[in-house]
Amino acid sequence: MQTYKYLIVGGGLAGQRACEGIRQADAEGSIALVAQEDHLPYQRPPLSKGYLRGQEGLGQLYLKEEAYYAQNGVAVFSGARVTGIDSAARNVRIDDGRKLGYERLLLATGGHAWRLPIPGNDLPGVHTLRTIEDANAIRAAAQESKRALVVGGSFIGCEVASSLAQLGLAVTMAFLEPRLLEPIAPLELSDLLHARYERNGVRILPGHTPEHLMGREKVERAAVRGNDSHLLEVDLVVMGVGIRLNTELARGAGLEMGEKGAVIVDEYLRTSDPHIYAAGDVAAWPDPTFGKRLRVDHWDVARQQGRRAGENMAGADRPYTALPYFFSDLFDLSFEVWGDLTAWDQTVLRGSMDENRFAFYYFHQGRMVGVLAAGRPAEERKPMQALVRARPAYENVAGKLRDETVDLGALVV
Ligand SMILES: Cc1cc2nc3c(=O)[nH]c(=O)nc-3n(C[C@H](O)[C@H](O)[C@H](O)COP(=O)(O)OP(=O)(O)OC[C@H]3O[C@@H](n4cnc5c(N)ncnc54)[C@H](O)[C@@H]3O)c2cc1C
Repeated sequence: MQTYKYLIVGGGLAGQRACEGIRQADAEGSIALVAQEDHLPYQRPPLSKGYLRGQEGLGQLYLKEEAYYAQNGVAVFSGARVTGIDSAARNVRIDDGRKLGYERLLLATGGHAWRLPIPGNDLPGVHTLRTIEDANAIRAAAQESKRALVVGGSFIGCEVASSLAQLGLAVTMAFLEPRLLEPIAPLELSDLLHARYERNGVRILPGHTPEHLMGREKVERAAVRGNDSHLLEVDLVVMGVGIRLNTELARGAGLEMGEKGAVIVDEYLRTSDPHIYAAGDVAAWPDPTFGKRLRVDHWDVARQQGRRAGENMAGADRPYTALPYFFSDLFDLSFEVWGDLTAWDQTVLRGSMDENRFAFYYFHQGRMVGVLAAGRPAEERKPMQALVRARPAYENVAGKLRDETVDLGALVV
């Protein structure tokens, strides 16, 4: 059995960044990366955006070229799935029967797309989106299709609907929430999005969900129900209804798991087994800014946690303290979010929504918890983040935030 000093399970963003983190702290130790997909590690955000629309190619997805792994002494096992961890003997089993030993193990297994459990959900023409193959299949189907149903009003649903509409399809969106991007978006932002989607020809059915997909050889009709019913003619359905975490290995190894099925890690991204770390979508970490455990499925968290976990596996012992961040592109609106928007009860608007240069500052129980910004001046990006970290009281900053003549930097104490 070959034993590696560092063994990474999962060839996504967190897994690839861990290689960088390890090499930063340890130039020599042997590294193996076991990746279930038949690809070198790649990034997923373009799959619902430029790649889906055919504006970006495969080359823009891969995080590093093949030569990087050889040059950095990383043995890549592509198309290989880890089927079990023996944490006492410190080895993993892969699906071809081989075992690989480790001194330190990283679980960066991410998630997989979920399908609504409704009749017809497996008909040809019904898709989910997580991998390059999923995006290729949707792109190919879009070329043959005229009418698409996108299920889900969160980020994947919004981005896919925007991309399919830009490809010229007549798109209907159905989602259970009363408005787009609920609960993250304030009402004014959802209203702006509804107007923008409708202007681009997307029909929006809030409070609706498909109950039945029908067709002979492929999907042809969708029965969608809310406070009224619709029988839609469709030739393509994309479900953007969330992910399920790939945590069966962690559970099998007896690691401590959180309430929502995530892997519990400490501030060094170490699990309840000191030889096993976890990072990215699967990890729930103690966040120092908000004083609570967070878990998110966002690109930047996977990027930063992967690297930090790698450094710590190689002995750096540095806590993970990054502010949660994500971005999205919906038609011509690109925005960025810092902080934790899972609970908020007040917002303050800075700038103008009509001119696409605005920021919503979010507060919960009187303290700032985050900011969502689109088209703001570049010099505001740093103070925005510093403000969220400082978590000022609403009454101390609300008026000044609204006043664009007040320098944001001056509000950071
Ligand atoms: C279409 C799409 C668009 C997105 N857009 C954005 C965006 O605009 N902004 C943003 O912030 N975030 C976005 N995200 C989310 C972001 O891509 C994820 O948060 C990120 O990919 C998580 O990285 P990860 O490395 O934790 O997991 P993953 O990327 O899921 O990688 C995990 C890898 O591990 C593999 N694996 C799982 N189990 C095993 C096993 N047993 N053995 C071997 N390998 C295994 C999986 O096959 C997978 O390749 C998007 C996601 C998708 C799908």
